[in-house]
Amino acid sequence: MTNNYFTICSLFYIVTICIAFFIKERINSTETNIYKYIILTNLFTVITAIICFFTIKYYEIIPFINMIVSKTLIVLMFSFHVFLTAYIYYISSKNVNKNKKSYVFEIQIALLFYMISVLLIYALPLYYHNDNNVIYSYGPSANVTYISTIVIFGFWIYCLIKDRKNFKDKKYWPFFVFMILSIICVIIQKLYPGILVLTALETFICVIMYFTIENPDVKLIKELNLAKDRAEKANSAKTDFLSNMSHEIRTPLNAIVGFSETLSRENVPSEIKEEVKDILMASDNLLEIVNGILDISKIEADKLEIINTPYNFNKIIDELAALTKSRIGDKPIEFIVKKDESIPEYLYGDSGRVKQVILNLLTNAAKYTLDGRITFTISSIIKGDAIRLIFSVEDTGIGIKEDKIDKLFGKFERLGVEDEITIEGTGLGLAITKKLLDLMHGKIVVQSTYGEGSKFIAYIDQLIVKDTTEIKNKEMNTVVDINVNFANKKILLVDDNELNIKVAKRLLKNYNLDIEDVMSGQACIDKIKTGNKYDLILLDDMMPKMSGKDVIKILKSDPDFKIPVIMLTANALTGMKEEYINLGFDGYLAKPIDRKEMLKILKKYLG
Ligand code: ADP
Repeated sequence: MTNNYFTICSLFYIVTICIAFFIKERINSTETNIYKYIILTNLFTVITAIICFFTIKYYEIIPFINMIVSKTLIVLMFSFHVFLTAYIYYISSKNVNKNKKSYVFEIQIALLFYMISVLLIYALPLYYHNDNNVIYSYGPSANVTYISTIVIFGFWIYCLIKDRKNFKDKKYWPFFVFMILSIICVIIQKLYPGILVLTALETFICVIMYFTIENPDVKLIKELNLAKDRAEKANSAKTDFLSNMSHEIRTPLNAIVGFSETLSRENVPSEIKEEVKDILMASDNLLEIVNGILDISKIEADKLEIINTPYNFNKIIDELAALTKSRIGDKPIEFIVKKDESIPEYLYGDSGRVKQVILNLLTNAAKYTLDGRITFTISSIIKGDAIRLIFSVEDTGIGIKEDKIDKLFGKFERLGVEDEITIEGTGLGLAITKKLLDLMHGKIVVQSTYGEGSKFIAYIDQLIVKDTTEIKNKEMNTVVDINVNFANKKILLVDDNELNIKVAKRLLKNYNLDIEDVMSGQACIDKIKTGNKYDLILLDDMMPKMSGKDVIKILKSDPDFKIPVIMLTANALTGMKEEYINLGFDGYLAKPIDRKEMLKILKKYLG
């Protein structure tokens, strides 16, 4: 070596890179970790090269020390190549699906190769040549490095060919540069053995790599994380908005439905009864729209779940038929139900969602048919424990134009808009139907002739319940009986809204209950703490200061507290029921309160 200017410059660069690398926030990825070893190896190489510059001058005086320093320099330069190989191997096999076993095997082979090479470098002799004060080393120890480096280069070319599709990936640039410059460096080294350019080349590669892996990725990841945070915030704001909206709409609706419901049972003139019926119908429609919007939002957020339980299939068909008849109303339409009698009575699936899907089809048939016939056919194919239910809803209604059929299942698609059809709707029903069927692995097809009528056919796979005793017992316990009497039973009603309390009291009026009410969570806790005894608590959730969730936490923290607590809420998003039950509530009633559902709960806890 005659001078070490290149090496001192390299030291300056590699120290700067190391400082920048270790001070700055880094991605914790395999690539970055390998790069960390690459720059550290280069830093030690450069330092050792500077030391070597001095020791080699006195190789005859301190032969042993000089030998160790020179060989360590060779090992470090070789290690640098090995880490580069690990890097190229990693990025080239990222897109390949490999099993862990073959990875471990390959890494073991590489380690063995590395250790043998290092041992040979230290074990084999290294000679020094002094040519007019230009001293350089040669011999078997140095030759091991040359041979191993040729093997490594061969492996790089193999990796590059293997991943040739991603050739343009900027992460490969340093390797192309390194291979080309290495050849030039070897030639320079041969011509001028006194200049040590190889360490400088390695530092140069570290600098290039710093810009091809480290910097842009961190920026990108930061931007992605920021975008992700923003999206998550927006999503949770949307969910909050939806539960608030559900709450705000359901609260007045609860009053409308509750009062109309009780009014319809009282001794009022028949024309008032008819009008009350219309109010109930309009409220039902409004509730359907709110539920539709909530459902579509849930589906979009991937939060809609299918909850399977055993259910009575015949009951669902009866309910569907009754609901359709009321939807048809006075229209001159004949409604025919044809059910395959071989369908078992008890099935396993999400009864609520099955009902929702079919009700959408039946409601549409009733809506878009002015006169004629609606035929609802239910057939089945049974295979072992599984049953495929095939529903067909055929009408003699307005029909759908052929070119519009493709749009049918899109969100907010209302096909009659340009024809000025005055039938109201949101265009959400069929979009929800399709998504629900997808979730239940079902399918839907449509046949329609414009002006003549339509036929929707859907199938859903369910399981057959073999052991029906449990579900039958459950049904026996929930038989609805309007004339039940809960004398001597005491209920605590907790709601911050006066109107809601009035509605609930009206609905509970006929059952001879002793009802007490309070208007805040704290008042409810005070009642319990001062020793008041109740048989049931009906608790609202969204109350100012202390929510129903906070109240249940406090109540359940007392091990002696045994009163069943029912969540009575207008926050009725899908999945809410499960959430409330998990929080410790014994049951759940959504507002507007369904009279039958309420009676089921009363019978269960007070009967
Ligand atoms: P909505 O009925 O609320 O508008 P849907 O998603 O249920 O929304 O239906 C989308 C559109 O498909 C309707 O607006 C209507 O134009 C058309 N459609 C659905 N069912 C029928 C049917 N049985 N007969 C004629 N047109 C129908």
